[in-house]
Amino acid sequence: METKLIKIDGGQPEAEPIRLAGQIIKNGGLVAFPTETVYGLGGDALNPDSSRKIYEAKGRPSDNPLIVHICRWEDIYKIAEPVPEEARKLAKAFWPGPLTMILRKTDLVPQETTGGLSTVAVRFPADLRALAFIEAAGGFVAAPSANASGRPSPTLARYVQEDMDGRIEMILDGGEVGIGLESTIVDLTGAEPMILRPGFITKEMLEEVLNTVEVDKTILDVDCRLRPKAPGMRYKHYAPKGTLSIVEGASETVVRSICEKSRSAKACGERVGIIATDETVQRYLTDSQADSVKSAGSRSDEAAVGRNLYRILREFDDEGMTVMYAESFAEHGFGQAIMNRLLKAAGHRVEIV
Ligand code: AMP
Ligand code: MG
Repeated sequence: METKLIKIDGGQPEAEPIRLAGQIIKNGGLVAFPTETVYGLGGDALNPDSSRKIYEAKGRPSDNPLIVHICRWEDIYKIAEPVPEEARKLAKAFWPGPLTMILRKTDLVPQETTGGLSTVAVRFPADLRALAFIEAAGGFVAAPSANASGRPSPTLARYVQEDMDGRIEMILDGGEVGIGLESTIVDLTGAEPMILRPGFITKEMLEEVLNTVEVDKTILDVDCRLRPKAPGMRYKHYAPKGTLSIVEGASETVVRSICEKSRSAKACGERVGIIATDETVQRYLTDSQADSVKSAGSRSDEAAVGRNLYRILREFDDEGMTVMYAESFAEHGFGQAIMNRLLKAAGHRVEIV
């Protein structure tokens, strides 16, 4: 199959490519599209064959449910029942936006889309091009991140192309995404609302709207013996080809320790990559002898760190790094999402210095 790449990077939806993309979805095909979080791999959420194709294209286990994207609030009533008061409050505060809610599904949603579960994940994204595409596609687009299973979620169309070329009909190239980490997932089907995956909408933000919000304990659990509630969080999300370790401690001690580790790894013939911050990057460039040192951004701008993280991990893979070190980030606010993804990439390897 030939995968068409169509640029729509003007920020505003362009009628013709979006119409074509919508038609592909209605015909049971797959289209990757930009959202404010990462690129999604879209298919018709109400067509079981489309969902099967998504799993196949990604090489994703079919018990890992997909997120259903909508473009109008009212459409939630077609796919979820009941729609609790908390869902209405969260939608009012954060939709359209990077928040996914887990609700009980209606019969309209096939089991193939929900990985056999009786619940459905629903998101109303904010990106105008994503909204126009969902509308053109019939209103219900199932979309996981548009990476091959086991690779970082794509933040650029180029990365979608690397993973999906020849496997899907079209990629809508909307340039670099804004947030760079997947949506926050909150489960509203239990006794208390619970965050299953941290994201740009933080626990603190959710608690301003709902009084108490629990966090699935496995999210930042270092020894990780518990079973995560979101099926997808159970899989080793992304395993770099090399070995990534997070080094945690006071800034000065961390820098010194990473530099030492890097020099000894170099002496053993490893190719070393370091994920630094603007505040520390210069030190590593001078003292670590690492093959590649990349700053994820300034510690005072966590949004930049979130946006750059997956790109850096992909680049390190492409550059053949065998050993990587990353500084750690605060485990509250958006830092919680950054740390969660880093921990997964590091297979929960953390060294406290
Ligand atoms: P992705 O779209 O690649 O970001 O992956 C979707 C994430 O949402 C995965 O971690 C899924 O396990 C999770 N998810 C989707 N539907 C549900 C559901 N009904 N219950 C719990 N988690 C879900
Ligand atoms: Mg994903």
